[in-house]
Amino acid sequence: MPKLPIGRKRPWVPERKAQGRRTEETKFYQSSAWRRLRNAFIKDNPLCVECHAKGIVSPANVVDHIVPIRKGGAELNIKNLQSLCSPCHNRKSGREAHQ
Ligand SMILES: [Zn+2]
Repeated sequence: MPKLPIGRKRPWVPERKAQGRRTEETKFYQSSAWRRLRNAFIKDNPLCVECHAKGIVSPANVVDHIVPIRKGGAELNIKNLQSLCSPCHNRKSGREAHQ
């Protein structure tokens, strides 16, 4: 009785389409240049600026681009960066998505 090769069905996996700029942005956020700058920035600016403007002291855990990269904001310029807490960052991202 000859051995039959075990037939394995290959499920058809759809290839994910690269999402242009999103991918570029993801690459940027994973770059060591950004991570170094981000870590240094949050050390110097450990509080959320939006909360601070309202008189609330809240530790920041996100370094946000004031002008988003996809809108032409400078990527690695600290003048385009601000520290935010997660709730403030989520609010800002939500606002930007509706623009
Ligand atoms: Zn905040």
